Amino acid sequence: MATDVYVSATLRMFTGREPVVEAAGSSVGEVLKDVAASHEDIRRILFADEGRLRNFVRVFVNDTEIRGLKGLDTPIQSGDTVYLIPAVAGGASGKNTPLIPAERSGAVEFSDRDLERYSGHFLLREAGVKGQKRIRAARVLIAGIGPLGAEVATVLASAGVGTLGLWDHRKTELPDIKNLIAFTERDLKRPRTAVIKDRIRNICRETAVSVFDYEISPDNAQETVTGYDLVIDCTDNFKSRYLVNDACFFAGVPYVFASLYQTEGRITVFKNDWSTQTPCLRCLFPEPPERNLVPTCSQTGIWSGLPSIIGGYAACEALKLITGSGITLEGRLLSVDPLNLTSRLFHVDRNCSCALCGESPSVRSVQAVDYDDFCNLREPDNVPPVESITVEDLVRRIENHEPLTLVDVREPHERAVHRFRQAIPIPIGQLARRKGELNPAVDTIFLCKEGKRSILAINTLREASYTGPMFNLKGGLDAAKDIVFSNEAGWL
Ligand SMILES: [Zn+2]
Repeated sequence: MATDVYVSATLRMFTGREPVVEAAGSSVGEVLKDVAASHEDIRRILFADEGRLRNFVRVFVNDTEIRGLKGLDTPIQSGDTVYLIPAVAGGASGKNTPLIPAERSGAVEFSDRDLERYSGHFLLREAGVKGQKRIRAARVLIAGIGPLGAEVATVLASAGVGTLGLWDHRKTELPDIKNLIAFTERDLKRPRTAVIKDRIRNICRETAVSVFDYEISPDNAQETVTGYDLVIDCTDNFKSRYLVNDACFFAGVPYVFASLYQTEGRITVFKNDWSTQTPCLRCLFPEPPERNLVPTCSQTGIWSGLPSIIGGYAACEALKLITGSGITLEGRLLSVDPLNLTSRLFHVDRNCSCALCGESPSVRSVQAVDYDDFCNLREPDNVPPVESITVEDLVRRIENHEPLTLVDVREPHERAVHRFRQAIPIPIGQLARRKGELNPAVDTIFLCKEGKRSILAINTLREASYTGPMFNLKGGLDAAKDIVFSNEAGWL
């Protein structure tokens, strides 16, 4: 019996870009083994050495996670679909109680101008005057003001949220402009928070804006989220995501989780309300992926329009929580893949052995966690350092006709941007299998976009017992852009 296995965008580099693969088997374990047999590169991603399914990948049969069924022994029926949903740097359908109590929203008074501005909400039973007063009384913090966070901030300011906190330490870069209309050429190199603060001023002068222009860290996370009614996590790295989750947990602040990867987005709500027994991020994904296994948005790209779609969903969740309207994503994960016209809701249960909210928690405070260690950001002690060469060195060696092999480990579609013509293309997921194509008698130089995946490539080949000399191109193709462009018709 053939079963469809839906592969999240994060993992498609290991399945030849296919969003759905067919596999045979009468249980989830058999189906996954069949996927690993037909797509060899995905085996080490799904399974640890001892054959255990890795913790950062969640497997669902239809909308139910297999941990709530029979795990890998869960039987597969005809017509079932298996979903592989890994963590990305990303319920209860009962009554949704408003986050903002009537005592606070009751003090809000609207001007004639407000009455006209918000008339569209007043007409809706789900908002009404009471709901709009709650929106005005709400204090919402947005962590990460990239394209996703900027969209959320813009929608919430338009909706009339009274207080917005903007938390980001980075400046506006050219790719931000491609991803969202909120950023313009005039904003380049300005702090993202300053750009969006100006934009909010132009949308609604009544919205008070606080800017937190420091990097999210264990020393500041809890203090920053405290005092907000709701946090929206739009960050783009695992360390910030687990920090925001843990800080919100200890501060008892609910939060909306929104994430993007290439063409896919995910949204959920973590209520941090013990009476509802709903999960936290660590229940859903107990641990982040191994170092460099899931590339960041800046390394893999984002489909235009996706930040607005997912940001719109996240802002909508925030407004539902504030007003107590509709059914929220509490206890459920919404996965949206507009390119493949796929959108699914998955149930997420609280994990009684969760390190944070479980019965015997090991995480006791934000300061007590080494997030660099937990997120595998530290260089392991026992791995020999990777030797790097600069672009200038590489150019000199090519021009001197020195014997060397260049390997481009980016995905095939990335190589259309700029490339070294003489580089052998071997995507990182295929390296271990294709190591026979390399010559251990000469230096092999690995390159990728930023010079990070190429380090992972070298360590992957070391693990696969490749013994030839290997070097990393420092800074990757990004560092070589000027030379590649200026030598278009030359040796490149
Ligand atoms: Zn938990």
